[in-house]
Parts: sequence; C-alpha cells; structure tokens
Amino acid sequence: MARRKKLKLRMDRIILVLLIFVTIVCMIILGIYSLIKTLTREPKDDVKSQSSSVVSSEVTSQGNAFTPPKDTSAWELILANPSNNIGQDYAPPEIVTTNEGVEMDSRILEAYNKMAEDASNAGAPFWATSAYRSYQLQVDLFEKQVQQVLSEKPELTEEQAKQEAGTVVAVPGTSEHQTGLAIDVVSNEYTSLDENFETSKAFQWLQQNCYKYGFILRFPKGKEDITKIIYEPWHYRYVGVEAATEIMTKGITLEEYLGKVE
Ligand SMILES: [Zn+2]
Repeated sequence: MARRKKLKLRMDRIILVLLIFVTIVCMIILGIYSLIKTLTREPKDDVKSQSSSVVSSEVTSQGNAFTPPKDTSAWELILANPSNNIGQDYAPPEIVTTNEGVEMDSRILEAYNKMAEDASNAGAPFWATSAYRSYQLQVDLFEKQVQQVLSEKPELTEEQAKQEAGTVVAVPGTSEHQTGLAIDVVSNEYTSLDENFETSKAFQWLQQNCYKYGFILRFPKGKEDITKIIYEPWHYRYVGVEAATEIMTKGITLEEYLGKVE
C-alpha cells in the first residue's frame, strides 16, 4: 500500500511538472504569437489608413466634380462681350460652312451637327441662320447703325451716335459671333429672332439638351445685368460639355462661370 502511495505521489509530481512545463510552453507560444501579431498588424493598419485616405480623397474630388478647374485660356472659353474686346485680329483658326450655308469654327461643327440631328429626330428641328461674323462685317454693321442714328438725330456728335449704336449693334470686337462659336437658330415654328422663339419646340428641346453637346443658352432671361445683352432664346454658344453642363444645370452665365462679372 505504502509503495502504491509513493508511486501515486511521484506520478502526481510528474503530472504537476508536466503541467507547469506545458503552461510555460503555452505562454511562450502565446508570447511569440502576440509578438508576431503586433509586428504584422502595424503595416496592415497603414494600408488600411492609406486606403481610407484614398477613399476620402475620392469622395472629396467627387464632391468637387461640379467645380472644374477654370482654365480660361481654353479656346472654347474665349470671352467676347462689351467688357472684353477680342480685337480685330481674332478669327477662328479654320472656318467651315455648314449644310445650312452658315460659317462656324470647324472645331464645333461635329457637335453642332449632332445636336441639330438629334433635335430633328426628337421632333424639334431647328437650323442656323447665322454663326461666324468677321470683324470687318461687324465694322460694316456698326457703321451702318451709326449712320442711321445720325440721320435720325443729327444733333448728336459722332461719339454720342456710336454710343447709341452700341446699344443695338455690337461694337466691333465685342460680339462672340466673331469667335465662330456662337450660333443663332430658328425653327419652322418660329423664324424670327425675337423673344417668342422660346415658345417653339426647338427652344424647349435646346433648353433640356444643348449642354450635352457643349452648348449653352448664352443670354438667359433675368441675367441681362450680367451679360449686358437682352434675352436671346435663339443664340447658343459652344463652351465644351464640362462648362456647358455646369452653366446650364446651375442656371448661370459664361461670365459667372469664368468669374468675370463686371
Ligand atoms: Zn447671336
């Protein structure tokens, strides 16, 4: 019996030692494991924070998507208005004649043709009556107007007559028709260049769709104090799809888009 007891005691001691050994081994393994985990976690977290910063910058750039960088030197954003005379030397690099027989800057022909074709297919056809006008043509038109003013009011000086003529005909160099990027359109429904063009299907289609082709309604109603030009529902201007989308969806003018309101 005593021998058995002794044996049991020894066994117990061995088990205890084994248990302590196993515990120590486990603690060492756990220690190594947590050390490895700590070491490998650090770069993981970096990747995570990097990717989350990428995501947040994407969100930021998406939020800014409607504020494009305003590279005002782009050819399609040229500003010709009473405050910005583009001078007698400006002319489109290449002038083409459309099927309708009007001249425009060759760079906008494709966009214009597509817009006219789609409008026609949608049952709202229009055609261009006038687009590019040379500086010299503007000089002739302006001079003619000055002479008319002087014949009606001979008491005016030539300077006064020029000022009055400038309220009806653009001073040479200030009409964007000189850029070849502006187009006056009419439709079967309405062939006069006046406010009532807005009642035509063509106008309604253009209001909804012109920006998709890079065109804007250049002289909107209620913006006369900014454009210094009367409401012209027939006059469209090419500015490129990006600028046109912002201008038409926000209901602003080219002057406001370019930050050149005077
Ligand atoms: Zn016009």
